[in-house]
Amino acid sequence: MLHYLQHCSLTEAFLFFWITNIAVFLGSVLLCWLLGIIFHQRRIFDQWQPLHKIEMVAAASAIVLNAIISVIGWYLWHKGFIDIKNRGMGRSIVDCLLMITVMDFGMYIFHRLAHVPLIYRLIHRFHHRHETTNPVSLFVLHPLEVLGFGSLMLVFLLVYPMSLYGLMGYLALNILFGTLGHSGVEPFPRILKKIPGLRNIGTSTFHAEHHEHPHYNFGFYTLIWDRIFGTLDPDYERRFDGESSP
Ligand SMILES: [Zn+2]
Ligand SMILES: [Zn+2]
Repeated sequence: MLHYLQHCSLTEAFLFFWITNIAVFLGSVLLCWLLGIIFHQRRIFDQWQPLHKIEMVAAASAIVLNAIISVIGWYLWHKGFIDIKNRGMGRSIVDCLLMITVMDFGMYIFHRLAHVPLIYRLIHRFHHRHETTNPVSLFVLHPLEVLGFGSLMLVFLLVYPMSLYGLMGYLALNILFGTLGHSGVEPFPRILKKIPGLRNIGTSTFHAEHHEHPHYNFGFYTLIWDRIFGTLDPDYERRFDGESSP
């Protein structure tokens, strides 16, 4: 695959990333649907948010914009501005955890800014059309949000020489967490909240609560920044246990 990307043209690179992003979208929708069946006893919402035509258009545009961001990344890599290293498994895991932590912090900051009333009205309210989420919610984003997330990722890659497997691991976890957060069910076992370290993983309940109560839970992959900045929903652990609001 790397060999192909090293020698392909701009058009071929766009087609490659466009098809890859379509596959990612379909995989995410399929996983969300499967999770809804497998974990139906741990539903966070009674039913999925109905889907509208404008949201399908937004999802299609998110796929194209993600492909464009990927092509920009490919171009920067081609020109030597982005350095992707071939490293062993141990270092790749460290790189992956580093990228998750840095991106989580960057996204926390941008997400809080997105809730400043004017920016919220103009950009982020579109994602919050979904109070109860559905399999497509992850892709129901304003184009500027898609470009903002992509740019943040490119800045990280421009600054840090990332390992190939670390990057692939990050991208896989990113889509997995995004899918879980909008799945409307909680696949993480209740014991998770008692395990040091793992209790800070951003669960489905964590992001679902953000759609219900947009003043809490701005993080994506972890609860760390919400704990530090005091924005974690005080109801979080109770909701994670499957108890309804009082
Ligand atoms: Zn969301
Ligand atoms: Zn939000």
